[in-house]
Amino acid sequence: MAGNQYIGGSTRVGTSGATHDVVNPANGSVVATVDLAGPDDVNAAVAAAAEAQRDWGRAAPGVRAAALNELAAVLTARAEEYAQVETSQTGKPIKLSREFDVPGSIDNVSFYAGAARNLEGKASTEYDGAHTSITRREPVGVVGSIAPWNYPLQMAMWKVLPAIAAGNTIVLKPSELTPLTALMLAEDCTKAGIPDGVVNVLTGTGPVAGEALIGHAGVRMVSFTGSTRVGKRIMEIASQTVKRVHLELGGKAPFLVFDDADLDAAINGAVAGALINTGQDCTAATRAYVQRPLYDAFVAGVGDLMSTVRLGDPLDPSTDQGPLVSFAQRDRVAGFIDRARGYGARIVTGGNIPGGALANGAYYEPTLVADIAQDSEIVQDEIFGPVLVVLPFDSDDEGLALANDTPYGLAASAWSRDVMRCMRASREMQAGCVWINDHIPIISEMPHGGYKSSGFGKDMSQYSFDEYTQVKHVSIETEGDARKDWHRTIFGDR
Ligand code: NAD
Repeated sequence: MAGNQYIGGSTRVGTSGATHDVVNPANGSVVATVDLAGPDDVNAAVAAAAEAQRDWGRAAPGVRAAALNELAAVLTARAEEYAQVETSQTGKPIKLSREFDVPGSIDNVSFYAGAARNLEGKASTEYDGAHTSITRREPVGVVGSIAPWNYPLQMAMWKVLPAIAAGNTIVLKPSELTPLTALMLAEDCTKAGIPDGVVNVLTGTGPVAGEALIGHAGVRMVSFTGSTRVGKRIMEIASQTVKRVHLELGGKAPFLVFDDADLDAAINGAVAGALINTGQDCTAATRAYVQRPLYDAFVAGVGDLMSTVRLGDPLDPSTDQGPLVSFAQRDRVAGFIDRARGYGARIVTGGNIPGGALANGAYYEPTLVADIAQDSEIVQDEIFGPVLVVLPFDSDDEGLALANDTPYGLAASAWSRDVMRCMRASREMQAGCVWINDHIPIISEMPHGGYKSSGFGKDMSQYSFDEYTQVKHVSIETEGDARKDWHRTIFGDR
């Protein structure tokens, strides 16, 4: 076995002695068997990252930018291979991998190549007349990052790029379910001339490799994307060594349709926004609130459109929706729907594990659920599957209050032709991103991150550097006196 730990610029075999099968959820076949990292691998990776950080942190921004530009070229040459591997380990439709995951990731690289040269500080001056103040924006050091399985390549990018563009080095642990494209990325960083040890990738489980990484004294910052449950555990562990923490957690995005909305646009937006990546998207539309006059037409329209979505082989370019990432995730989704039936919900469309040719994969039908209470678990908890719930509302006040009524706050959308309503919704919706008359698009230039239990800190954009840098005040005395003016507080008038 060549090894699946990428440490200090080369691969090695994990020392835990355990292995993990990466499974294609479309048919249950084993795509690859990876060895899992143990604490010794974490120690080796952090040591390699710490050694590399001294020089990388001092490299001129232009040098870091040049390496990232080269990385973009290397990735572009392998784009189709990345798309194929991403689809085989996640089950996502190949058109999504080709048109969203891979080009989005490469665009991120290009963005950070430019952003690396734009790390600004404030202008300095003599605030008290006797000292010149300078602010330095410095890397934090070694960053430990943990990523989820839903967008493995993009999540690796969101962690690696701002960290290394700012002069940090990184040890990344992707999800053990989907480690393959993160490993390819680490190798390509080396091919692009990024020095050994700047980007290290460990394939391992959360409780073993993840906790060892978060707890390691040599790691100065933790960046985590995943569930709110694990995020709380990450904070607990990180607190023991007072690490900087950046958390991108779960979501339960509302989709608020006012009675003057373009109904056709809202129906299309709801189906696409709910089903992208088989609903395994932290910003996916999950709760539609529709003002009473449009409610019946919206439910009928979404139900009809959902039932036309084509499930199938993710490698077939005509497939709209692939399987869930795993059979366990499929069963979790099915559990939510079965329990909802039990408390009287109406399944407008879907609600089943499909049979026939799809029975060997982790598929679940696109599902619309109505006639449920706001406080039911299917409205409040993150399902992370192809499920949209829909509820009516009467007044604008009521709709906005319902939209904000979950612990989460990652993303939201509002649909209206009235600019005043749109402005009010964008102000009052408690989420790190509010779309108006759309739901899902993200861009490298703009920040992504949560409010409330969806976490804190920003991925992408220039704002991400607030997480991945620390600001130092340097004060230079300019008068040259042995006795400074402020020494009066010690020496009195002597
Ligand atoms: P998860 O929390 O189960 O796992 C995420 C990562 O944490 C994995 O790499 C896992 O191995 C690791 N992990 C698990 N237990 C750990 C522990 N005790 N210590 C350290 N690491 C541990 O999440 P998931 O199921 O992989 O992904 C789905 C979740 O991710 C959803 O809640 C989704 O909303 C969230 N997510 C959020 C964003 C965002 O930007 N806010 C983006 C994508 C996914």
